[in-house]
Amino acid sequence: MKLRFAMTSIFAALVLWASAPWAQDLGPGFTKVKDWIYTFAPDATTTTCSFVVTQEGVVMIDSCNSPLDSRKMLAAIKKVTDKPIVFLIDTETHSDHTGNHFIFSPPATVINHAGAGEAMKKEFNPKRAETLAAQSPEMRDALKGNKMVTPQIEYKDKMTINLGERTFELIFLKNVHSEADTVIWLPKERVLFAGSAANVRTFINLRPTVVIPDVLASYKLMKSLNPEFVVPGHGPVSTAKIFDEYEGYYTLLLKRVGEMAAQGKSLDEIKKELKMPEYADWYGQDRLPVNIEVAYKSVKK
Ligand SMILES: [Zn+2]
Repeated sequence: MKLRFAMTSIFAALVLWASAPWAQDLGPGFTKVKDWIYTFAPDATTTTCSFVVTQEGVVMIDSCNSPLDSRKMLAAIKKVTDKPIVFLIDTETHSDHTGNHFIFSPPATVINHAGAGEAMKKEFNPKRAETLAAQSPEMRDALKGNKMVTPQIEYKDKMTINLGERTFELIFLKNVHSEADTVIWLPKERVLFAGSAANVRTFINLRPTVVIPDVLASYKLMKSLNPEFVVPGHGPVSTAKIFDEYEGYYTLLLKRVGEMAAQGKSLDEIKKELKMPEYADWYGQDRLPVNIEVAYKSVKK
């Protein structure tokens, strides 16, 4: 009898653990990727942030676009679990991903690749809080306690975190978006948090440090992991098809810029003449000139 009781309790605990709440209970923009893995993508282009529940606590990926979004995230986590947020892993250094660490850390320990803290300090915009606060009284309220929190842990090239029953593999990608870009791979669950090397049908604001051949190499690497789900830095959950789409786009862009440069055209002429009609339905059309600038640097090398 005793054994039977124990078996029943273990089974009941397993059932309880497996039945993670549905995302619609958490509010608009939340998606349940797999049991105990949730993302919050407010719309098609805004910064995505995510959380993964383990038996030993929660791991967050990015701190959300605004403090208001971070508060929604915190409320959602509390609905799903009473376990603490143990780690917050950044996929990049820019403030739309890292500016709201203060809401989660402490208790969360923030992690990103070497150079992340330095880059955050360099990019720090002292007016950010003021500009946000002017948006609404709710935003002003959510900014209480605002300060810059840089990663307490910086790793080099690769890092593995084992928390509870889950493994998180952190992989550094060089020159793909910011000064420190990390993708997070969950090998058992086959979920990849891919950061901003690829988003969802959007021209990305490429900084001068981005090297397109390195970006293309990062797609190869990420596809080789064979993920079932890919969570981008901006926009809703997708699959590895986003890597194929961006690979097609950047390859065509390099080809066209290369041909025009070979004809002796200047960067300014190329920016004026070059069109990418195949991608007319992508968001952020005003970023094409910046994409051309970065492509031009690659073909001129
Ligand atoms: Zn960014």
